[in-house]
Amino acid sequence: MASKQMVHMNQGQGETSYAHNSSFQSAEQNRMKALIEAAVVELCSNTTTLSHGKVVIADLGCSSGPNAVALVSIALEATHSHFLQLRQPPPEVCVLLNDLPYNDFNAVVKSLVAVRQIGEPVVVTGVVPGSFYERLFPSGSVHLFCSSNSLHWLSKAPEDLRMKQIPAYDMDENVRRERLPVVAGAYARQFKKDFTLFLQLRAKELVPEGRMVVSLPGRRSDEPVTETSLIWGTAAQILGAMASEGVIDKEKLDSLYIPVHGPSDEELREIIQEEGSFSITEMRVHDPISGMDRALLTPNRMVNSLRAAFEPIIVQHFGSPAEIMDEFVRTGEKHLSLQRSSQVKHARSPRVMLVVSLTKA
Ligand code: SAH
Repeated sequence: MASKQMVHMNQGQGETSYAHNSSFQSAEQNRMKALIEAAVVELCSNTTTLSHGKVVIADLGCSSGPNAVALVSIALEATHSHFLQLRQPPPEVCVLLNDLPYNDFNAVVKSLVAVRQIGEPVVVTGVVPGSFYERLFPSGSVHLFCSSNSLHWLSKAPEDLRMKQIPAYDMDENVRRERLPVVAGAYARQFKKDFTLFLQLRAKELVPEGRMVVSLPGRRSDEPVTETSLIWGTAAQILGAMASEGVIDKEKLDSLYIPVHGPSDEELREIIQEEGSFSITEMRVHDPISGMDRALLTPNRMVNSLRAAFEPIIVQHFGSPAEIMDEFVRTGEKHLSLQRSSQVKHARSPRVMLVVSLTKA
């Protein structure tokens, strides 16, 4: 069972760490910059929102490494430059970073020292360990929430699949294809439950007209769900290849449910509208690799990025030593190279990044 403890990225600064393997995610954070800046300007221009001259900014699912402070730094710099342009003193700012308790907060705290130096007169920083599927902040206290590449993590794997013992990834290709709608549907229902709760909680914690800018991986609504459009699909295919070579246990693979779901843009829009606490100020759908240096997109980098995110879950589930992950990388490189050579050149990626800017209604 995927418990909360297993969800953390690979820690530290080493070669397999998230800090070292998060350039895809960093590219996405850069694409969020304009939306964060716009949200900050609107917040700062609204005198009722900023009535006490203080701004509280929080990042949800910060992880560790250079990305942990990237979004809050964008927001902080935007706040200062807004007031500089108005020739007014900037407000006091409180910057808070959240992630699950097993995150590498030691590393995060060191990065926060640099954030404090961005601002005058006062920038207070802190960490808030806990799940973003629970209350984390006092009600009506936060002005801006940011989050990148985190909200696809579910609170748990879909219960109905586990209870009915339906593998997320069946080794039999025909069974797998037939069951795909059932499996994808169960993941979508869990996401709907989780994201609805997430919106309700954040709506309580935001000030009136507070803002939220979030990005998460998803899929195109105008394309059918396929194995490659699921965000755990590639990792499952690699593990499937390892199981057929006898490197990992097939039965154990049957009970692995990686708790992530990438919604389509329509799916996300519907959930936000149905929940009702927020209006959508803007939603963007990006190709995940647009604007990225193609040299970075090697099978090796892609599989190491999967490793950095899923290693703790895989190792805990298979109860195997971390060496299993070296095999994951070798098999993944082969798999991704083959996939790449069989893909039609310039075909659209079925996966996208969704960025949405919300205002509390
Ligand atoms: N924002 C960073 C990190 C993304 S990695 C970036 O863009 O690079 C995803 C992070 O979400 C991980 O650190 C993971 O621990 C965190 N996460 C997953 N589920 C969470 C939850 N329920 N509550 C808080 N953080 C969570």
